[in-house]
Formats: sequence, C-alpha cells, structure tokens
Amino acid sequence: MNERRKTRQVRVGDDRVGVVPIGGDAPVSVQTMTSGYTHDVDACVAEIHKLAAAGADIVRVAVPEKKDTEALAEILPQVKVPIVADVHFHFQRALEAIEAGVHKIRLNPGNIQDREQVGKVIDACKERGLPIRVGVNEGSIIERRDKQKRMKELGGVFSGAKHGHFLAIMIAKLEEYLEIFYERDFYDVTISAKSPDPTLVIDAYTEISKRFDHPLHLGVTHAGPRETGAIRSVAPLAHLLASGIGDTIRISYANDPVFEVEDGLELLYCLELRERKGVDLIACPTCGRIQVDLFTLVQEVREKLAAEIELPIKVAVMGCIVNGPGEAEGADVAIFAGDRRGIIYVQGQKVANVPEEEILDRLLEECRKFEDRVRSG
Ligand code: SF4
Repeated sequence: MNERRKTRQVRVGDDRVGVVPIGGDAPVSVQTMTSGYTHDVDACVAEIHKLAAAGADIVRVAVPEKKDTEALAEILPQVKVPIVADVHFHFQRALEAIEAGVHKIRLNPGNIQDREQVGKVIDACKERGLPIRVGVNEGSIIERRDKQKRMKELGGVFSGAKHGHFLAIMIAKLEEYLEIFYERDFYDVTISAKSPDPTLVIDAYTEISKRFDHPLHLGVTHAGPRETGAIRSVAPLAHLLASGIGDTIRISYANDPVFEVEDGLELLYCLELRERKGVDLIACPTCGRIQVDLFTLVQEVREKLAAEIELPIKVAVMGCIVNGPGEAEGADVAIFAGDRRGIIYVQGQKVANVPEEEILDRLLEECRKFEDRVRSG
C-alpha cells in the first residue's frame, strides 16, 4: 500500500445532515446513486434512507427535469445524508437544485460547456459554499477531439500509451473546464473520469492525480450486473487505492444500489482504508474433506451477524479440522467442523463441541457474548 496522495479537501453537507469531508486526510468515503425517479418524492426519500442505513456517506440523485429539482425541496428536509444533484444538459437544473438546498453539484463538461452557464453555477455554489464534481466520463468528451491546441501538445506526451488519445483529450478538457472555476477563484472541486474499461480507469486517474490536487471520485461506469461488475469495478479501484489514489468511491451495478454501498465499504475495509463496522467473516471454500453443510451455514451466519453485530469481530467458519484450528486461533470467534459437529473457539480457546444443528445458534451466542465483553472493556 502506498501512502495516500494528499489532496485539497472539500466538504459536503451541513449541520443538519452532517458534513462529509472528501480528500485531505479524510477517510475514503462511499457514494451511491438512487435508482428511481427523484420526482417520486416518497420513493426517493425511502431509497435514500435505505442507502444511508446501508452505510452510504453521500447519495446522488438525478435531476433531469424541473419536477425533479422541485421535488428536492420536499426530499432534502427528510433525509439525513448529504445529497448531490447530478446535472446533465440544463445548467438551470443546477441552479434550481442549489436553490432547493442540495449539498453538492455534479457537472459533466461534455454536456454543459457554455462558459457563461458554467460560471453561473459556480457563482451560485460559491455563494452557498457548495462543492462541484467535474465528471469527465469517457463517452461524453469524445466529440471534443481535435479542438484543443493543448490536446495536440499532450498527444506527444502520451504517444505510445495504450489510451494516449483519450488521456490527451481528457487532460485538455479538464484544464480547459477548470480554468472557468479558477478564474472565479473556486477550488472546491472533485474530479472523476469514469469509463467501463478498467485499464482506462487506471490510466486516467493515474494521469489526473499527477496534474491536479483536487480530490478524486473513483468509479467504473456502466460496470454491468453485480456478478461481473464487482470484479470490473474492484480491479481498477483496488489498484488505484493501493497506489494512494482516490478520495471517494462509487461502485455502480445494474442492481439495487445497496449492493454498491456494501461492496464499496467491503473494499475499503479490506484495504484498511476504513475502520470496519460489523463482522469480518472468513470461511473456507469447502472441499472433499467437508464435514457439514458449510455454504448454508456461512450464509446464515453472515445474515444473522450483519443484522446483530456492530463491532469489528473476526469470525471464521471452517469445514474441517485441516485448517480449522489454525484459523480458529487467529479469529475472535471460530467454528470448525468435524464429523457432523462443530467445535467452537473464542480467542483461541475451545468453548463448545455441538451437533451440526446447534452450530448456528451457539456461534451467534458466542459472538454476542464476545461483543458484550468488548463493549464493557
Ligand atoms: Fe477443505 Fe477443510 Fe480447508 Fe474447508 S477447511 S477447504 S473443508 S480442507
């Protein structure tokens, strides 16, 4: 793991919903986006509550129409997490969202290019102390090719690089766009450069991190269903985060965004970039030595412990005695199976030997007792 790259911190939120710092020495935050219509107020509020409960630090909503920004006025007072308005095409939507009290704006340079319009959004954000994310998605900036002198200069810098042409366009576009912000003395900016191509994501963020000190919002766009999108997202994000790059992340799936939050948090826990909340569960993959129905047991243990345990307890569920005792010694609470029974350990000490049908309840009981002991010091 490399040391985290120091970025200029921005702050998202207010006294009522809490402030989430991004960049600087702040922990890497997890973002997601609602999947329903923003103008469907009750459903939108319910989804934001669900995402916040899952651990989302910041939630983004799309505001394609005026009825969506009008809905924000009703939504914002009901939620307890900072909200970002995602604005495409109409700068007016950004102004309306700001007026409604949103906590951050996302602009796409490919869609809102008029300097005067961008300037109005920047001025409105500056007046209210709101940050702006500049998101240069791969698909949205391609039409700018060959327009920028700087891009031609950068072409030489990146000649021979796998994604050289795109990198040149992207850097030139960012420089050009951010000039509008700097002219207005506005620096509360985060940057994203998403693509469905994981290798491009690595190259793009690596190059941006060398040139700008704004916090970076990492993500792979259109990553697909969770089954494949998880690897597509985690491969580049883990690489970048381990290289010290990235201040906030969004994993995106064609699925319930709760999974985006859960998997984003798990990635940060695994890289020790966030302090784990809840159980750290390890389990063996099973093999021909298996002694119990381990897959069912692991799923039950995971679901029950996720609902009950808040402290970062390490739990091991192992299928036989081959690796069981070793893992049991390294875990807070562990079970390894033998001859349709479960041997349960707490901090390396054997505490029980129960039949298979009692394993789950006894393991949960030992986890609860362990958490109580930790809480009471
Ligand atoms: Fe196989 Fe036992 Fe290892 Fe599980 S713990 S993978 S059952 S050897």
